[in-house]
Amino acid sequence: MDDLLRIDDTLSEEQRLIRDTVRDFVADRVLPHIGDWFEEAVFPARELAPALGSLGVLGMHLEGYGCAGLDAVSYGVACRELEAGDSGLRSFVSVQGSLAMFPIWKYGSAEQKDEWLPRMAAGDAIGCFGLTEPDHGSDPAGMRTHAKLDPSGDWILNGAKMWITNGSIADVAVVWAQTEDGVRGFVVPTDTPGFTAPEIHKKMSLRASVTSSLYFDDVRLPASAVLPGVRGLKGPLSCLSEARFGILWGVVGAARACLESAVDYSTSRIQFGRPIGGFQLTQEKLAWSYVGLGQSQLTALHLGRLKDAGTLTPRQVSFGKLANVRAALDIARQARSILGGNGITLEYPVIRHMNNLESVLTYEGTQEIHTLVLGEALTGIPAYR
Ligand code: FAD
Repeated sequence: MDDLLRIDDTLSEEQRLIRDTVRDFVADRVLPHIGDWFEEAVFPARELAPALGSLGVLGMHLEGYGCAGLDAVSYGVACRELEAGDSGLRSFVSVQGSLAMFPIWKYGSAEQKDEWLPRMAAGDAIGCFGLTEPDHGSDPAGMRTHAKLDPSGDWILNGAKMWITNGSIADVAVVWAQTEDGVRGFVVPTDTPGFTAPEIHKKMSLRASVTSSLYFDDVRLPASAVLPGVRGLKGPLSCLSEARFGILWGVVGAARACLESAVDYSTSRIQFGRPIGGFQLTQEKLAWSYVGLGQSQLTALHLGRLKDAGTLTPRQVSFGKLANVRAALDIARQARSILGGNGITLEYPVIRHMNNLESVLTYEGTQEIHTLVLGEALTGIPAYR
């Protein structure tokens, strides 16, 4: 499909090389299998993680410890190409790099960084991020998971987390818990006694992604397990801001894949003696999807450049997540209708992306919460409670 606005022409040569390398990886390693993985609800993480590590996309925006140390736009472009494959693939990379590696890199001790970051960058160790709980999703301030120092100086962690991407395949969990000093982050090796992570089944979205509950039953951790560099909810919220940046780029890829599929289909499917792409109603759907895609891409690129300039704010990230995920879901739904009956099978990518985007609309701040963030930005009045 033609890039009418020539947006990628404004990328640097290195950024275009990253685009092409990740796109080739997805075409080679993911697209031939993704329909089956989705149907069978599997994500072959142990195979893909080292390959993604070699590709250089795990923690690619972090410096040192075997990470690529690339700029934000490069990270965004990689997320876009990964999610053109599947939101589950991009979720894996986002959780690994932005939610598990980032807090260790930003707030961890030298020992925590040395122990985990090189292995995570290589894809030899998998991480997860535990914030959401069964009773506390949009409002994590009320979390019940708690850690107490016992007389020996160890931490004792108790509680439960829910909807945790990579939970049951992770080697290490970054877990946020209440302490006497407020919310703290803990680096928890998943083979610690008392830690269990059953997988959540029967999902109709992000099926090619592992989602789990985490349970902590008197999990004993050394004093050194706490992230020393941050206290309070700003710890997990700063990680989410990093990951949302990947989302607002990633969904552009999912939307592009849907529109490409709809354009292809509309020019070959004949009804009433002509291609359905020759009907004005179909062209209207395609044209508005093209507009939505271009606007989302421009938003992502602008926010990427602000991030590279060091001025990107969490509110701007909320704007991008809200706008781009809604646009992507709209494009996916229009594409699905253009494909008619074929739009509901896994022979085409559209319904898989459409169903995946329902999760993306909900996780890392629901569309309602990001709407309230923008409402507060405009009026100065917080309306969360
Ligand atoms: P709730 O907070 O109960 O919200 C339910 C509805 O009420 C939503 O529509 C919401 O917008 C609305 N609502 C809530 N409060 C308000 C309000 N003040 N005003 C208006 N409307 C409101 N979490 C992690 O910690 N780590 C992960 O790796 C992770 N991965 C995930 C993977 C998947 C596939 C999914 C589905 C979720 C994942 N999550 C993860 C959890 C996700 O972030 C939460 O689902 C999300 O924050 C919403 O929380 P909730 O599901 O409890 O919904």
